[in-house]
Amino acid sequence: MSCIFCKIIAGEIPANKIYEDEKVLAFYDIDAKAPVHFLIIPKEHITSAAEITPANSSIVAYIFELAAKLAKELKLENGFRIVNNCGVEGGQTVEHLHFHVLAGRLLAWPPG
Ligand code: 5GP
Ligand code: ZN
Repeated sequence: MSCIFCKIIAGEIPANKIYEDEKVLAFYDIDAKAPVHFLIIPKEHITSAAEITPANSSIVAYIFELAAKLAKELKLENGFRIVNNCGVEGGQTVEHLHFHVLAGRLLAWPPG
């Protein structure tokens, strides 16, 4: 298994975990781009958002529900941004579906 996020799920690589259940894992990004920056990933290996189908799309709703729950718990009342980078031009560097949750400063728009 060469996928770094699958290795984090398997416990082969340590991560600063925020939340875990049988379907998903949330952990802080190793290279934070904002004062709060964590990732939510499905435990199922899905390569990218381009691979979402009717068979697996329910995990996306589950991840967004968790993002809202964690945002409340972490008191991100000033707002937050959920980002998914997909593919080369989308800026994806890890080929395991993940959603960034960024908060704690005013985030620029549009992205570069
Ligand atoms: P992408 O660029 O694919 O949208 O996001 C991948 C993210 O994973 C990056 O923000 C990067 O900092 C983070 N990342 C890569 N390797 C690791 C790791 O081993 N541990 C953690 N916690 N984050 C990682
Ligand atoms: Zn994986």
